[in-house]
Amino acid sequence: MTVEELLTELKKCPDVKRPAWNETLPKPTRTRPNKIKIVGKTVTIKWNSAGVRPDMGDWRWDEQEIRIAPDLQKGLECETVLHEVIEAIKCHLRLKLPHDTLQTLSTILWQVLTENPKLTDYIFRNK
Ligand SMILES: [Zn+2]
Repeated sequence: MTVEELLTELKKCPDVKRPAWNETLPKPTRTRPNKIKIVGKTVTIKWNSAGVRPDMGDWRWDEQEIRIAPDLQKGLECETVLHEVIEAIKCHLRLKLPHDTLQTLSTILWQVLTENPKLTDYIFRNK
């Protein structure tokens, strides 16, 4: 992890104040969730967010908000959402999870979920 990445990570943590962002956000599409629950808290997902740092998405503790960059390919957008959800879980539970490990976890979890439809059927639709 570089110093820049470390500073980015620190800014995502609850005890560090986040900078204000200037942005104009288009309306989300119908198929994208605007509110989700993470560790019992409501988290807003803002789609098509300008100024997301790093490039694809970010998690903002102060606003309890996940922001997703515009114009991502569908799969990349979904993987980014999963990544940011794990970032939010990490912050809420104060997990000591280095960013490179989190990145690997989110990418592989996405791969397992997308390449194993019978598994996702079993987990999510077998009630
Ligand atoms: Zn991240």
